[in-house]
Amino acid sequence: MNTVFRDNRRFNSLAAYFKEKFGSRVQKVSINAGFSCPNRDGKLSTGGCSYCNNKAFNPSYCKPEKSISQQIIEGIEFHKKRYESASSFLAYFQAFSNTYSDVDSLEKIYKEALSINGISGLIIGTRPDCINNDKLEMIAKLAKEKYLVIEYGIESCYNKTLERINRGHTFQQTIEAIIQTNKKGILTGGHMVFGLPGETRNEMLNQAEIISSLPLHSVKFHQLQIFKNTKFEKEFISNPQKFNLFDLEEYIEFIIDFTERLNPDFLIERFAGEGPPIYIAGGKRWGLRNDEILNKIEKRMHERETWQGKYFSKIY
Ligand code: SF4
Repeated sequence: MNTVFRDNRRFNSLAAYFKEKFGSRVQKVSINAGFSCPNRDGKLSTGGCSYCNNKAFNPSYCKPEKSISQQIIEGIEFHKKRYESASSFLAYFQAFSNTYSDVDSLEKIYKEALSINGISGLIIGTRPDCINNDKLEMIAKLAKEKYLVIEYGIESCYNKTLERINRGHTFQQTIEAIIQTNKKGILTGGHMVFGLPGETRNEMLNQAEIISSLPLHSVKFHQLQIFKNTKFEKEFISNPQKFNLFDLEEYIEFIIDFTERLNPDFLIERFAGEGPPIYIAGGKRWGLRNDEILNKIEKRMHERETWQGKYFSKIY
């Protein structure tokens, strides 16, 4: 291996980066601040993205009826019980689009989160079309003081797919948002979904090259799953052959191929993850925890004698 990553891993691990930066394991404390999303409240559409069921990834302590502070305090308690080694926490504005409000309201809630003991920074999940210069300038000031990432839902680099899944924005808007955020000195994260209908394996793979040219700090990947109460659930029930959901072994080979082509400077937070079984409407279930999936991917990377960015310089 000619690229050396933290903790002798075969990829640039965000967890290892956190350990180095904060001196301990870092946990993200999810918050539901009661935002909506233009793809749900009627501004763009009311149906939402075809795969979206926010409940599937929303921990039980996250309820918008509770204050931001209360959610964070309960979240910290929850994580401390689970992981004794966790002593640093990042407030994760996760549910819906967390920049979808006016600048003053956003500043108030971000500052409230940052004021809680134990919170070392913020992760703000949002859509590329829910950001503007004023919001970025306000967030940039906070980012000077604390670790702060704006995490954009990229999902796909292809406009045909973004239309197919009813995202309501183009890939050009994603590029613009990431570049503008980076120009303000704010770290950017990107989330992608693999296995979206209509994309070939090669098209999915070629996205490694496309996103590698963007100024991203961290990336997070998921395989497509069909959640209950989504448009995809209806489509899947009426026409399951439209979907080509990944088997575990097939996904492991795919995501390693993808990672080999990915910019080795990008920190990888997650390669895959399954939602809770009660939210799954159908399709293949792997039945593994995230750490078990990660172990399998790392073991296979070792067998294949490969690593993140192995083919990066050959492509660019
Ligand atoms: S995935 Fe995000 S942008 Fe899409 S409908 Fe759900 S909350 Fe809105």
